[in-house]
Amino acid sequence: MVHGGAWDIPTNALPDHRAGLALALRTGARLLQAGAPATTVVAETVTTLEAHGAFDAGRGAVLTRRQTVELDAGVMCGATLRYGGVACTQHLVHPARVAHHLLQHSDGQVRLLVGAGAERYAEAAGFALVEAASLIHPRERQRFQALQAHAFYHSSFSFLAPPAPSHPQGTVGCVARDCLGHVAAATSTGGTPFRPSGRVGDSPLAGAGVYADGHAAASATGWGEAILTVQLTSRAADEVRRGLAPEQAACSQLRQMAERVRNPHGTSATGGLLLLSREGHGSWAYTTPRMARGHWVEGHDPWLTV
Ligand code: ASP
Repeated sequence: MVHGGAWDIPTNALPDHRAGLALALRTGARLLQAGAPATTVVAETVTTLEAHGAFDAGRGAVLTRRQTVELDAGVMCGATLRYGGVACTQHLVHPARVAHHLLQHSDGQVRLLVGAGAERYAEAAGFALVEAASLIHPRERQRFQALQAHAFYHSSFSFLAPPAPSHPQGTVGCVARDCLGHVAAATSTGGTPFRPSGRVGDSPLAGAGVYADGHAAASATGWGEAILTVQLTSRAADEVRRGLAPEQAACSQLRQMAERVRNPHGTSATGGLLLLSREGHGSWAYTTPRMARGHWVEGHDPWLTV
């Protein structure tokens, strides 16, 4: 299962979102058919979405208040509880691959690396570092200018303001179950638009924006400050462990987040969630106008919608 964010995705962006999801589903299906482990499947599927440019991840990331691209990603394996995460990277095209590398090779000694430390690790592991400016999408420069004008007008509270539903929240994610029945999850993001540089949301954090254990795998999107406060993905997996169907667990956790966490404007916290049980029952839920999502099941054609 894949997602490309939950927000008020404009109609003119729908074809691009569909194209990106279709590519990602093809990547995931090919790897699953070849017998790849679930962690490789989720990391590579998310890598396809990072490369596409339609989403708030990799080459399509939104800009911080300093007009920088700062990327976060996390990958988690349900069978071993191994996890790798990177945050605030400015020179990596594919943070999900680096997070996956950390998961595979750090032996659990290090699980989360940020900024220059993450980039030094990536370089030593053989990943290419790129010029920070090469990651800036022209669409995001324009969006930044529009947000800047708005923020000047609302300067008294803009520092704390969460994104409005119309602000892009096109984080990408994938959950998968491999031929051994193991599940894994990956989430990658460019963060929230116009945030302060150095801010880290939920996406790269185990239990917040990404989680997998012996019972379920989950990937979240939405307002990161709320998602990490309630530990949305690990709570949803816990509900599956207690016997709830994934569709009930996903809905109930998003509802609880909306009830418990108010953003600084007083409205409820919104988001979207993919949840897949180790038995292979998958579901999604979202509290936004749209969520870009799709799935592939062996023996069937890929299915997607925005
Ligand atoms: N959850 C992400 C963050 O807060 C944003 C998103 O899902 O689009 O960084």
